[in-house]
This record gives sequence, structure tokens and C-alpha cells, in this order.
Amino acid sequence: MWLTIAVGGVSLGLVAWMVHREQVTLQRLREASLRLAELKTQRHLELVEEQSKQQALLDSMVEGVLLLDPQGRVKHMNPALVRLFGLSGEKRGIAVAEALPVPGLSELAARTVQQGRLTDQEVELPGDPGKILQINAVALRDPDRMLAGTLFVFHDLTQHKRLAEQRREFVANVSHELRTPLSLIKGYTETLLAGAKEDPDTATRFLQIIDKHADRLTFLIEDLLTISKLESGQVIMNLQPTALHEVVAQVLEDLKAKAAERGTELRNEVAQTLRIHGDGDRLQQVISNLVDNAIKYGRPGGRVVVGARSLHEDIVEAWVADDGLGIPMEARERIFERFYRIDKGRSREQGGTGLGLSIVKHIVHAHGGEVRVESEPGRGSCFYFTLPRVNESGD
Ligand code: ADP
Repeated sequence: MWLTIAVGGVSLGLVAWMVHREQVTLQRLREASLRLAELKTQRHLELVEEQSKQQALLDSMVEGVLLLDPQGRVKHMNPALVRLFGLSGEKRGIAVAEALPVPGLSELAARTVQQGRLTDQEVELPGDPGKILQINAVALRDPDRMLAGTLFVFHDLTQHKRLAEQRREFVANVSHELRTPLSLIKGYTETLLAGAKEDPDTATRFLQIIDKHADRLTFLIEDLLTISKLESGQVIMNLQPTALHEVVAQVLEDLKAKAAERGTELRNEVAQTLRIHGDGDRLQQVISNLVDNAIKYGRPGGRVVVGARSLHEDIVEAWVADDGLGIPMEARERIFERFYRIDKGRSREQGGTGLGLSIVKHIVHAHGGEVRVESEPGRGSCFYFTLPRVNESGD
């Protein structure tokens, strides 16, 4: 009997111990799977975070990024690429040649896969205006060296190339403009030294020519310095409430003799009360360049009028009008470019540098204004420019 009770007790104890062990094991298992789930979630979150970081990086890049799958179909495009090509609609899954208007892109993709990478490939896109792109690409491989895709980076070089071209053109123009008067000065000096100086009339005539071309060189260098200062932002406009009538009166006084030589009448029709926010010296330069042109390209015995009116309470529009040659339609934008002239011979003959209107444009822009021209060829031109107005309270 006691034995039975003892065996029963031991058995019960054993069962209880086994149940307890099982519970502990189950608890450990539950903890382990919880930990595993936690780790998985954490890894997942890390991956999501990593992916969104990569996405943000791609989205913020100025370069266009294109990812192709191993079959050469679009897998991903960043927003810069969409903007670069002005793309619309879903392109994922489409063959690259159909998705992007880049000639020979699928051949470039094939070469990238073959060679592993492609560097500094320049491609010109057709169109007006066309684009010049630099393409770099790399073939992506998985740990087993299997092709996982091709990554392209597109860099828009159009602006950079255009600026480099403008710089080259500018340097060529400056050299040409400097060389012309210099070779004339040299030529006449040599002729004088070779004997022409013995004849007083010839000597005087040649010296006058030398003097004129030396002046041209001086004007050119002054204008070049002004342009370079304006373009590099070195000139700080000192905007002050200014009476426009006074500035115009000063310019017309300075150019009186030149106008008289051509029998040109100069008129200041700007109201005495009109005040603008402007840098007096720089405005004088604007009006002087425009009136000087109006005299040069105006009709001999003609008239040059300077006027102004309030466009609305904040803006004044001023103008310089002549009744001369006029400007053909196709040249109206281009005359504001450096060294652009409609008639090179005539401009040089008058001592022009080809920089006057470019200087006008820079100064007016620095005042927050705009400049434009209206013209009827054969009947005259009118150059308009806007300036900030001083309102009634005189702020
Ligand atoms: P330039 O020193 O040759 O006068 P500008 O930059 O002042 O240089 O002017 C550029 C060109 O614009 C001139 O060469 C001329 O062909 C044209 N132009 C400027 N002003 C006038 C005008 N009032 N009438 C006709 N053509 C003009």
C-alpha cells in the first residue's frame, strides 16, 4: 500500500516536472520565434530605410539615372531623367530604344554589358534646340557574376558646351577687333616713316587716321572692361531717387557737338517731375549709348527724341527714338549680343565697338528692368527700357 502511494507520488512529481520542462521549452521557443520575428522586422525596416535612402539619393540627383534589367528593358528612371527627356507615361518594362529618344542607346547598352563599363560617351540629340549629353554606364552583376542589369547616368552638357563656345567666340572677336585698328596704326606709321612724312598734307591725313584708330582701341578696351565688370557682378548699382530729365539733359549736352556734325536735332521730352530709382552714372551710360547710336545710325539732318512715361505706379518706361535706317526684324534680338552689328563697315567707320547695346542690356537688367526695340526699316528705331519708379510719396 505504502509502496503504491510512493510510486504514485513519484509518478505525479515526474509528470509535473515533465509538464514544467515542456512549458519552459515552449516558452523558450516562443521567445526565440519572437526574437526571430523582431530581427526579421528590424532587417526589413533597415532594408526599407536603405531603399528609401537610395531612392531619395536618386531622386535628388541632377544627373538622369536609368536602370535596365538584363533584357535591356527599363526598370527604373529617376525624376531628373524624366525631366531631361520630357518623358510622360509609364516606361517600366519597355525596351530602352523605345523608351528614350537617344540614338544608338541599345547598342551602348550592349557595349556596356560586353566591356563592363562605358565612360564619357557624348551623344548629340536631334531637335531644336538640340541637346548634348554625356553618358556613363556600368553593367551590374550578382555574386554569381550573372548580369543583374545596366545602370546609365546621363549628364546634360548643353549649357556647358554653349558657354564654352560663347567664350571661344568672344576671344576670337576681341582678338579680331584689337588687331584691325592695330594693324592700321602700324601700316600708316610705317608709310609715314618710309617717307610720307615729308609731305605735310599726307602726314596730317595719316596722323588723323592713326589718331582715330587709337581712339577706337581706347573705346574698345573701356567697353571690354565695363562688360567684364558687369558680367562678373563686380558692379554694384547705387540706386538712388534720380530725376531722369536731368540725366538725359546731361547726355544730350555731352553729345551736342556730335549731333551738330550730322545736323541731328536732339530733344529731351522727359517730364521734369519724373523720378526713378537708378544709379546716375550707369543710367547716363545707358542713355549715352542709345543716343550715340541714334545719331550714328539716324538720318543726317534727322531728329532724336528721348521720352518716358509711367507704365504703372512702380515702373517707368523710357525710350530713345530716331528716324534713321531702322533695324530688320531678324536682327532685333541679336543687336543686344556682344559684337553683333548689322553693318560691320558702317559701325567701325563710326568708331563703334559692337558692345554698346550689350552694356545697355546689362545695366538695365541690373536695375531690374527690360530692354527692347521696335523699328520700321527705313523709317527709324525706338529703343525702350524700363526702370523702377519713385512713387508719389518718394520712398
Ligand atoms: P556699335 O558700336 O556697332 O554701335 P552697338 O552694340 O551699340 O554697337 O549696336 C549694335 C548694332 O546695332 C550696331 O552695329 C547697328 O548695326 C545696330 N544699331 C544700334 N542702334 C541702332 C539704331 N538706332 N538704328 C539702327 N541700327 C542700330
